[in-house]
Amino acid sequence: LPSPPERRLYAPPRSICPLCAHADSPQLNKYLKLDQKGSIMAEYVWIDSTGETRSKSRALAATLASWLRHAANCMPCLRISLSTGSTEPVIAMPFFSDEFFHYNTLKEVEGGYKPEDLPVWNFDGSSTNQAPGDNSDVYLRPCAVYPDPFRGTPNIIVLAECWNPDGTPNKFNFRHECAKVMETYAEHEPWFGLEQEYTLLDLDDRPYGWPAGGFPAPQGPYYCGVGASKVVMRDIVEAHYKACLYAGVKISGTNAEVMPAQWEFQVGPVEGIAMGDQLWISRFFLSRVAEEFAVKVSFHPKPVKGAWNGAGMHSNFSTKEMRVEGGMAHIEAALKKLEPHHEECIKEYGEDNEQRLTGSYETGSIDQFTWGVANRGCSIRIPRETAAQGFGYFEDRRPASNADPYRVTKILMTSIFGKL
Ligand code: ADP
Ligand code: MN
Ligand code: MN
Ligand code: MN
Ligand code: MN
Repeated sequence: LPSPPERRLYAPPRSICPLCAHADSPQLNKYLKLDQKGSIMAEYVWIDSTGETRSKSRALAATLASWLRHAANCMPCLRISLSTGSTEPVIAMPFFSDEFFHYNTLKEVEGGYKPEDLPVWNFDGSSTNQAPGDNSDVYLRPCAVYPDPFRGTPNIIVLAECWNPDGTPNKFNFRHECAKVMETYAEHEPWFGLEQEYTLLDLDDRPYGWPAGGFPAPQGPYYCGVGASKVVMRDIVEAHYKACLYAGVKISGTNAEVMPAQWEFQVGPVEGIAMGDQLWISRFFLSRVAEEFAVKVSFHPKPVKGAWNGAGMHSNFSTKEMRVEGGMAHIEAALKKLEPHHEECIKEYGEDNEQRLTGSYETGSIDQFTWGVANRGCSIRIPRETAAQGFGYFEDRRPASNADPYRVTKILMTSIFGKL
């Protein structure tokens, strides 16, 4: 028998979004195919005061320096330079658009643009609650560059740190201190693997596909679910997966979660400061992909009160020493170091996390530091395989889905190895 209508997980059929006309639109595609005439679109992305990503773009002309670097290693381009016998054609190059786009292949974008090649920019911090109106400029200092999966080659995504005009890091720039910690302890080769859980919402802020006047059937069929009425909006998950792979973000998997409309993706293992960079850019990609489907992304750790799982950002961690024979001793030593820092860690692990860390729904209690092998009701889980082979990694299950990965990875390091 079919469920009563108010208990059905309902996914309306997909169509062209009535709000933004995003879809396979011939009107739009006509313009997207136009030649860029040698300019590159660079989408600068930063983190705002609420832990959301913001972005704006600027067009950059190819620089002489980046052209020379390329031409030195590229036979076709070298031939063109040599045939004219001077560096003159180098400057003329961008006007021969076929050759120019040869130069601007994906390979060049990945290997060619370094954050330090890209201009420092700024934005109006008074509009994002990151600066006062009478001194509103916040600087954007590029810190990581990725191929742009939305606009394609040769365009780029530029992750940027926020800095105040007086040369101090902006209040919401948690990357700067994290990077210092990662540099100081680089010899331990810290690897992180973050499991980002999130919830898709419709435009009325209901979990996507949930019936308007009620709730879907209780949890059970949805985790890693397959089939209509078990999962919704798999298109977003797949599109996001591809976007990450295209951009070189080390996404390692995805799965549907316990609460309907909740999903997870994992990024890692990634070493040091690149972990926070990649996770933030993957969040930006997710919000950006979902925008095209007119779907909202919530990173709130308890999006629905009651008998519904919360959302976390389990943080898997290992050092060089933990990953080899005898590693278990290093894991246990690290857990002993983490224990007295429990409260301090919780402060870094996201807002509203007390709604999630109740000791139920596969969480440990927020008041207690506990660990166990294969135990999902603890603060820290040691995976079965790590315990069996005597080395590997551990999983900190405490961070909320809205935690800042720079803060999480930093406090793990300073708790274990000491503050700077
Ligand atoms: P779970 O069983 O908790 O759902 P997942 O498969 O979702 O685990 O995520 C495990 C994460 O652990 C992945 O992101 C993976 O990259 C990461 N990981 C694997 N090995 C290590 C390691 N040695 N150090 C740190 N992270 C690791
Ligand atoms: Mn303006
Ligand atoms: Mn997982
Ligand atoms: Mn999960
Ligand atoms: Mn996990």
